[in-house]
Amino acid sequence: MSTERSSQTPRSTGKLLATQGYVVGIEISGSGTRQSVALADLDGNILYQLRRPLEYIPDTTTLLQLLEAMLGEVLDPEHLRDGRVLRVGVAVGGPVDASQGIVRTLYHAHGWDNFPLQDYLAERLNVPCIIDNNANAAALAEVLYGAGIGERVALYVGLGRGIGGGLIVNGRIYHGVTSTAGEIGHLLVMQNGPKCSCGGYGHLEAIASAQAIVRTMIGRAVEHPATLAAIHRLTEGRAERITVGQIFQLATEGDEVARCLIDEVLTYLAFALANIVHLVNPGMIILGGSVALVGEPLIAPLRERLRALCLPAASQHLRIVQGKLGPQASLVGAVTLALQDL
Ligand SMILES: [Zn+2]
Repeated sequence: MSTERSSQTPRSTGKLLATQGYVVGIEISGSGTRQSVALADLDGNILYQLRRPLEYIPDTTTLLQLLEAMLGEVLDPEHLRDGRVLRVGVAVGGPVDASQGIVRTLYHAHGWDNFPLQDYLAERLNVPCIIDNNANAAALAEVLYGAGIGERVALYVGLGRGIGGGLIVNGRIYHGVTSTAGEIGHLLVMQNGPKCSCGGYGHLEAIASAQAIVRTMIGRAVEHPATLAAIHRLTEGRAERITVGQIFQLATEGDEVARCLIDEVLTYLAFALANIVHLVNPGMIILGGSVALVGEPLIAPLRERLRALCLPAASQHLRIVQGKLGPQASLVGAVTLALQDL
């Protein structure tokens, strides 16, 4: 996995040269559908990457064996040539205790409760390892390499199957006392609202995540034949496959059910973001995840609502933008974690 040559190369500054080593980024998705491993140089350029889906993660062993096989391929001596791996970063699709390097749980997989992933990987690979939640990792990546370059205080909002968030202050992830800062999916926005993945009710994730939007749309369409017919037309008869983008399309075409639903989603998302804006006063809100792929039809009305909901001094310099890293955000985030302070 390593050659001695690189570590003996003389250098004139304290900063490592890109040719002297590599970092590895690992993405473990909470749903089990995306496991990725990347090899990157010290400038953060991904040189080689693998993505292997698992439909379902029965236990830790299955996933760790898959990762080990992927790492074996990525760390092929041919890829490493004249360098060695200096650090491994992992973006985990679930709550993480970043200070202890422990996965608290993966909601859609068994056996991960309080799993010491950081120590496990560091031991297996004999390289220092750093793990964090995937939204925190994506947030850091967007601020260092994506849409938020140079932002002093930026909030990343991952609107995917669930909703995650990451707050970056002066180039660092703000973790809070027990690494739960940024868990904005569990902001309480609706009294007696729908049930959340965490067991609570009326949380943002239960209303504005991709899964929640699609589920609500299908549920309401059952009582509206014209809407149901439109969904079947868009999905070739497989209503359950409708995407948030298609629901926005229906709303634009004038479908009342879709229009009302999108209006509700924007309302509660704006409530949550306005509250955060008043607490932390960010310069930028970066929207990522599958819902953000909708782009301006989502972002333009959000800007308008936030302007209306926030104190002018809090919102006048606030920019709300789409992330630049797209579906790569978590994996680039994992690489970015590995590069921190290197
Ligand atoms: Zn919740």
